[in-house]
Amino acid sequence: MKKITIAIDGYSSCGKSTMAKQLAKELGYVFVDSGAMYRAITLYCLQQGVDWHSEQALNMALTAIHLSFHWNDALQQSDIYLNDTDVSEAIRTMEVATKVSEIAALPAVRRFAVAQQQQMGQNKGIVMDGRDIGTVVFPDAELKIFVTASIEVRAQRRYDELKAKAPHISLEEVKKNLQARDYMDSTRSESPLRQADDVRLLDNSNMSRKEQLLLLLSWARKEMGLV
Ligand code: C5P
Repeated sequence: MKKITIAIDGYSSCGKSTMAKQLAKELGYVFVDSGAMYRAITLYCLQQGVDWHSEQALNMALTAIHLSFHWNDALQQSDIYLNDTDVSEAIRTMEVATKVSEIAALPAVRRFAVAQQQQMGQNKGIVMDGRDIGTVVFPDAELKIFVTASIEVRAQRRYDELKAKAPHISLEEVKKNLQARDYMDSTRSESPLRQADDVRLLDNSNMSRKEQLLLLLSWARKEMGLV
C-alpha cells in the first residue's frame, strides 16, 4: 500500500497532537509531536541555566542534548526522553510554555530539530504535527493540514488540561500564553507559522473528535489512492 507523509500545522492548542496521534493509530503510521522536541530543548536550557542568547553556549547545549521517543504501552502514548530521562510531563508546565517560542525561534535550534524530524520521516508512513511541518520539514508531504479554532475554545481546552496539575493557573493566563506564542510563532523570521499553499484547512471549534477523525481519514485515504 502507498505510504504517505502527513503534515499537521496550526495554532497553539488546536488539538493537533491528539488528532495526529489518532490518525497515526488508525493508519498504523508513526506519530511525532515536534512541539515536544522544542519543549524538551527549552526544559534543558532552563534546568541547566543555558544562556541561549550566546551562540556558543547554545551550540554547546545542543551537542549535549539527545532526544528520543519511546512507546509507552500502559499510557498508549509516545514518551519523549531528554537524554536518559522521560520528560513527557515536565515539558508541559507553564514555565516551559512561557519560554518555548523564544527558544524555538533560534536558527540553531531549528536546524537541530528539523534535521532529526526529516530523518524520522525518511521512510514516509508518518504523521507529524507542529508549526512548520508542511512548509519546511516535509514540503513534499502528500497531505498537509492547517488547523485553527477560536481562541476561546483553545484556551478552555488547554486550561482544562493544565488545571489538574497546576490549580493556581487562571484561564486568562492560559489565553495570554497562547496568544503570545501564536504571535511569536507567526512573526519570527526563521520558519514562521504560515499556511502552505497546498494545504487543507480545518477549523475544529465546533467539531467532535470523531467527526474530525473521519474527515482526516477520508483525506488520508484519498491521498493513499484508496478511494
Ligand atoms: O505544539 P506545542 O504547542 O507543544 O509547541 C510548543 C512550541 O514549540 C510552539 O509554540 C512553537 O513555538 C514551537 N514549535 C515550533 N515548530 C514546531 C513545533 C513547535 O516552533 N514544528
